[in-house]
Amino acid sequence: MRLSARVGAMAPSPTVAMDARAKEMRRQGVDVVAFGVGEPDFDTPDHVKEVGIAAIRAGFTKYTPVQGLPELREAVAAKFRRDNGLEYAPEQVLVSSGAKESLYHAVMALCDPGDEVLIPAPYWVTYPEQVRLAGGVPVIVEATVEDGFKVTPDHLRRALSPRTRLLLLNSPSNPTGAVYSPEELAALAVFCREHDLAVVSDEIYEKLVYDGVHASIAALPGMYERTVVVNGVSKSHAMTGWRIGYAAGPAPVIKGMAALQSHSTTHPAACAQKAAVAALTGPEEPVAAMREEFARRRELMLDLLGRLPGVRVARPAGAFYVFPDVRAWLGRSFRGRPVEDDVTLAELILTEARVALVPGTAFGAPGHLRLSYATSRERIEEGLRRLRAFAEELR
Ligand code: PLP
Repeated sequence: MRLSARVGAMAPSPTVAMDARAKEMRRQGVDVVAFGVGEPDFDTPDHVKEVGIAAIRAGFTKYTPVQGLPELREAVAAKFRRDNGLEYAPEQVLVSSGAKESLYHAVMALCDPGDEVLIPAPYWVTYPEQVRLAGGVPVIVEATVEDGFKVTPDHLRRALSPRTRLLLLNSPSNPTGAVYSPEELAALAVFCREHDLAVVSDEIYEKLVYDGVHASIAALPGMYERTVVVNGVSKSHAMTGWRIGYAAGPAPVIKGMAALQSHSTTHPAACAQKAAVAALTGPEEPVAAMREEFARRRELMLDLLGRLPGVRVARPAGAFYVFPDVRAWLGRSFRGRPVEDDVTLAELILTEARVALVPGTAFGAPGHLRLSYATSRERIEEGLRRLRAFAEELR
């Protein structure tokens, strides 16, 4: 069979691929330290699980409205009001199978073939692929470690063209952990208004901010009507496998996104939607406890990484990733094998040091590595011991 050009040109997600390789090695009995994962290692809170189980037992196993259960959309609207000062009616909310699907529908709904989409780099791997699938043109806007991995209007201006239509913003960021301050967002908002850009704001790591505060660009003057906010319970409530994300924005855009969803996945599992209501309306303590533990791990990770020779690491303010610059390790060799780039480096670290992490190239930032600290402090210490031993053998 002939593959479509669309799919033929696409690589599977490298973060998912790295996770699969590490899991396969572990299945074969190899003790791999997993710094490649993008999901909390905590369990979904019990009160959330119980609601999901009860929903199945009660026979809540049929189709729901495409946009999601009314009570879940009410809970999402209440969350936006409480946490972000944003007022959405339930018809302005779409519940999807993960934030990833919400993002996909948002890009599909806002992007015509040939439209240019500004994507700050380092970026989450999925953004450029989703833009290409919509026929759009990803325009990568680089921010360096000196910029705190954040773009400014100056960066964006250089990438602007008459075809620029959309900005994809992600704060807190995967892979860098960078968090835009309210002032930085205000400057970007002015730029978006000046150039009549729409914004898709991916706020999935909102609950994991350690320094400063999370702010939503949608809450800034003139931005509500040009922003689709995407969020979900995957990272906040350790619910990655339940597949519940959501989007909120201007009613006609959400309606368009819902039309797309009605022809693809229809809606996420009914019992998962019930569980998400419990997550969004229930106690905040489990979320706070996870955040506190992540904060402790961040300190440990930064301390140990900072002691590795030649590694430069910025202090991430949010999410659960660090994104060290390892260019000093490149161009050298490990046991006679040349370490040409970050992809080879990550490969060698996996096979020789038995530590799974993701090369920066996957995020549009060669010369870096992404390490997730969604794993225990013991494993962080073990992983960094292995990385130190690896670094000592570089010639
Ligand atoms: N956005 C970012 C920046 C992410 O890192 C992820 C998951 O890794 C997602 C969205 C997708 O979240 P979900 O699992 O809810 O689809």
